Amino acid sequence: MSKDFYKTLGVDKSASQDEIKKAYRVAANKYHPDKNPDNKEAEAKFKEASEAYETLSDPQKRKMYDQFGSNGPQSQAGYGGGQGFGGFDFSGFQDAGGFADIFESFFGHGQGGARRQSTEQRGEDLELRLNIPFEESIFGAEKSIKIRRVVRCDKCEGSGAEPGTKIVECPECKGAGQIKERRQTILGQVVTQRTCSTCKGAGRNPEKPCAKCNGNKRHSKEETIKIKIPTGIQSGTVIRLQDHGNQGTKPNLDGDLYLRVNVEPSKKYTRSNQDIISEFEIHSLQAVLGDEVEVETMHGKEKLTIPPGTQHGKVLKIKGKGVP
Ligand SMILES: [Zn+2]
Ligand SMILES: [Zn+2]
Repeated sequence: MSKDFYKTLGVDKSASQDEIKKAYRVAANKYHPDKNPDNKEAEAKFKEASEAYETLSDPQKRKMYDQFGSNGPQSQAGYGGGQGFGGFDFSGFQDAGGFADIFESFFGHGQGGARRQSTEQRGEDLELRLNIPFEESIFGAEKSIKIRRVVRCDKCEGSGAEPGTKIVECPECKGAGQIKERRQTILGQVVTQRTCSTCKGAGRNPEKPCAKCNGNKRHSKEETIKIKIPTGIQSGTVIRLQDHGNQGTKPNLDGDLYLRVNVEPSKKYTRSNQDIISEFEIHSLQAVLGDEVEVETMHGKEKLTIPPGTQHGKVLKIKGKGVP
């Protein structure tokens, strides 16, 4: 069940950071365990308020919460960390003048000079670490991996509006996307502008939000994808899968997926550039007199001639049996 952090703190969705801080102070004062010993209900309320404050007091977390609710991708992935969003600034793209906005102004589709943000959202790039066995790093492989990413809602096709309903001007900001506030200070009148929280700066809102994504246009989803590991891949190599990152609200805004390959060490073999090295033991008699032995390679069993008088630590080479 999604929690309503605004309701918990008793503030409006458009509340300022100061208002949130004040509301939390009041709640924390009222429900603090020191003031309510052995009161389970107060303790629970105190925890709830703290949780709400932790999210709403952080502009980044608040933005994620506004977009996805408390059951959004952050609850599986953790805010700003864990699989999916690790190392990537998830919300940066929605800041004033996000990518889509920049493109629009380049191509002359800017919205008449208003500081309204685009309603389109670009999908974020994702980076995941991929562990592969030594064997697969040498010979390559085709495998299926599970990823959790944000996908475009297929019901509303990323518009956020229930199919058949319209997208209308935001009543809160009258379509401007920004709300101007005038304040009297000792230095005179100060006009501040903030992004409208109702439409998140877009100036327009769905008349009726899509029931599947709650009007968020996108939702988190676990998917299985097929990938190809090329032969001879080294640890640290990054494989880029175009458009396999988080999806944007339009197909041309999909992010990419970067897989950072980590090759697990082998018990039998080590690698040195294109060569594969393995160790094996022989009898002292075989070393002195020489012998013909069979050794195991990654390509199967191979015959190897040990010359007479072979010393400990001597490296013998079998041609063409290294990394393909
Ligand atoms: Zn939808
Ligand atoms: Zn608005």
